[in-house]
Amino acid sequence: MMELIRRFRRMLRLVHYYSADRSYTIWSQAVAIALLASLPTAMIAVIVLNATIRQIETGEHVTGRLSRDAAGGLNAQIVSDPMFSDYSGGGRMIGEFTMWVPIHRHGWPIVTSNRPQPAQLGLNLYDQANTRIGVRLGEDSAIWQAIEEALVGGGHRAMLEAYHQPRPPGEQLWLGWTVGTLMLWAMLAVLLPLLILMTRVASLLVLERRARRVAALRAKGLCIRCGYDLRGLEFNDRCPECGVLLE
Ligand SMILES: [Zn+2]
Repeated sequence: MMELIRRFRRMLRLVHYYSADRSYTIWSQAVAIALLASLPTAMIAVIVLNATIRQIETGEHVTGRLSRDAAGGLNAQIVSDPMFSDYSGGGRMIGEFTMWVPIHRHGWPIVTSNRPQPAQLGLNLYDQANTRIGVRLGEDSAIWQAIEEALVGGGHRAMLEAYHQPRPPGEQLWLGWTVGTLMLWAMLAVLLPLLILMTRVASLLVLERRARRVAALRAKGLCIRCGYDLRGLEFNDRCPECGVLLE
């Protein structure tokens, strides 16, 4: 009987030894897989971030004044100074306008694509109480024709196009895509093994705490599974309470 128990114990030790070794291999394999997976993960992440992360910026921006001349014709003049000190147009001023192209810059940590939005027009006509933002004027509107002329004269054709097109064409920044992917790859290559290491440390701490608890129970002569008092039962193979095999 004692010989059997000794053999069984030796077998247990072997199993323990090999499972410990295998668990080490599993961890190092996990790190290797994480490193291999970090590149495709970075490639997917850069696409997801391009679709989800955006900052809104203002691209081209102009301000100007609207005036009516003696003959009743409408004129628009773009002025660069916000105080309109460089305004030189004649006639009676009837209002102000401002126009800008919002640009959505997509991607993280660096911008991978630019998506210009339709140009926005703000109008402040002095004979109307409120300033209006997001005004859509038709081609036949006298105000629009005056603004259009001023934009063409000022070389703001891109803004004109961005006003007419409901969805101006976007721009892919291929350098941004490349550098963004590499940056995410580098981050993941550090982060994933770090997470695995932290998981491993946590699991070792749990195992150690369990081992300490078992040792404490054993030192007190209690069953390691159910805590049954085993003092005086040193020659039993199993705990009489729960049946766990005694070492
Ligand atoms: Zn027990």
